[in-house]
Amino acid sequence: MHGLATARGLAAGPVFVYRGDGDIPIPEYIVEEGCVDAERARLDSSIAAIRVDLEKMIETLRERTGRKDLRVFECHLMILEDAFLIDEIEKRISANRLNAEAAVRKVFAMHRAQFEKMNDAYFRERARDLDDVERRLLKSLTGYSNKAHLELKAPSIVVADDLTPSETVQLPREFVLGFATNGGSTTSHVALLARALAIPAVTGLGDITSRATAGETVLLDGSAGTVTLHPDAATEEAFRTAMARQAGATAARSGSRPAGTLKDGGEIKIFANVHPGIPLAGFREKGARGIGLYRSEYLWLNSGYEPTEDEQFAAYSDAARFCTQLGDAATITIRVLDIGGDKAMRGTTAKEANPFLGNRSIRYLLSHREVFRRQLRAILRASVEGNVRIMYPMVSCIEELVEAEKMLDAARTDLSHEGVAFAQNIPVGAMIEVPSAALCARELARHVDFFSIGTNDLVQYTMAADRGNDAVANLYQPLNRAVVRLVAMSVDAAKEKGIPVSVCGESAADPVAGVFWGALGVDTLSMSATYIPVISRILACLTRKDLDEYAKVPESLPPDSTGAQIYAACRAWLFARLPPEVCEIAATLKS
Ligand code: PEP
Ligand code: MG
Repeated sequence: MHGLATARGLAAGPVFVYRGDGDIPIPEYIVEEGCVDAERARLDSSIAAIRVDLEKMIETLRERTGRKDLRVFECHLMILEDAFLIDEIEKRISANRLNAEAAVRKVFAMHRAQFEKMNDAYFRERARDLDDVERRLLKSLTGYSNKAHLELKAPSIVVADDLTPSETVQLPREFVLGFATNGGSTTSHVALLARALAIPAVTGLGDITSRATAGETVLLDGSAGTVTLHPDAATEEAFRTAMARQAGATAARSGSRPAGTLKDGGEIKIFANVHPGIPLAGFREKGARGIGLYRSEYLWLNSGYEPTEDEQFAAYSDAARFCTQLGDAATITIRVLDIGGDKAMRGTTAKEANPFLGNRSIRYLLSHREVFRRQLRAILRASVEGNVRIMYPMVSCIEELVEAEKMLDAARTDLSHEGVAFAQNIPVGAMIEVPSAALCARELARHVDFFSIGTNDLVQYTMAADRGNDAVANLYQPLNRAVVRLVAMSVDAAKEKGIPVSVCGESAADPVAGVFWGALGVDTLSMSATYIPVISRILACLTRKDLDEYAKVPESLPPDSTGAQIYAACRAWLFARLPPEVCEIAATLKS
């Protein structure tokens, strides 16, 4: 089967079909006359069981986090205790003789519709709470298991329709050999996680869940974007030989020069992107010279709740301490909570008609100032442990930077009054991932100490092509002229102001696009550690003069060249300058 080459590498193993927490099949039938009481009793015992579960969960969370504010779950308990709602469900069982599941579904749907009609965001959000409680009730009544991830007990290729970031992080990592999904794309968050975890992945396969059989061996090539079902013995043997060869070829960086050193001694620094929760060990061996993107939102997504200031402080301090092992001058760029869009979190982010254009990232933080305040305090406190930088995601206008700066100042003042130590002059940067930010990069540069270009989102917003939708993957073109111009504008603005600029989107790890950003003048490329050795090897074959020439390739093409043609011409130019063994490895990478 052919899909999208999403995370490089080869994997072979048995299929584990992950059905996840998807749709719960709901039976609907008329209950026998004599069984109505039993049906009501079934409902009551489900409600009682869920209440016990919720109380237990609140207790555990309170112990783990020390937080008294567990309103979301308390609100769920209140819904379960709402006499009016329960009464309506019971009436449908008694009067209409509807089975409990169908009665629950109908009554919740009615209530949800009422909440959703309201203008007030608070009430609309309550509709999500109803969703949660309804799912709990339906799972309990139908006996549906939501512990799908626990069923993965042996090393397997995980086959799924699609995976949310939280589902992905829940899977026991030691048992995931590879991912193969019906939907998704190369820059969806599952894709980024797969890369961060160095797990080969193929997405956009369409219908692999109905074609692969649980337990049968499949061969997955994350570089070619293929999955082979029912391989014969000879094919499997050849594949396993290739696996062994590739593991050796890219295990460590080549030579003793720092990662990103050019042939003439110049450099484009190579940093690592980090998801909290994924071990940092091994980054130094791969050659990372710092942490260019610490995706703090995974502290939220991994646990399903907001970490306390102390929990955040512990995580940021650990990462900052680890970073100092990468070199005295190594910096760690902690990106503040980039939640919303495809990183939605139940109970935290509201349901929006257009989440990608909604109240996400820096916008969310500026409208939830307590969350922002706690995070800034935690980062400042951790700043004594290493060279910490703070980065704001999804900046779209100057006001956001000005407001964020005020919040940071207030956090500094509070900590000073409390006598808590923090590093002075922490560099503060903006991500350039929205076209408006790139277009006003010159003005934004006056307010920050660095830029980091998030090409995953910049391509998506520039081309109006959802980064997670394989149906528009053809429009998701990192080297489309529009994207190239926006990146060039951002780099030029940074140079003019004399501030550093990096690329931390996945295209940094694409040999063709990543090297091109370096050619445009980007100082640092930040990527999943697993890609560092290969990009390093490619850069070691090129001089700054080569890169200057490379930067001119798109301009030299006819004006109506497509994004795909520009990419192909750049690839041809670059590969013609690499020795064959480096070409072979470079061909296994593509973002
Ligand atoms: C990006 O948009 O390029 C980026 C690095 O942020 P994320 O992928 O986490 O949205
Ligand atoms: Mg982004």
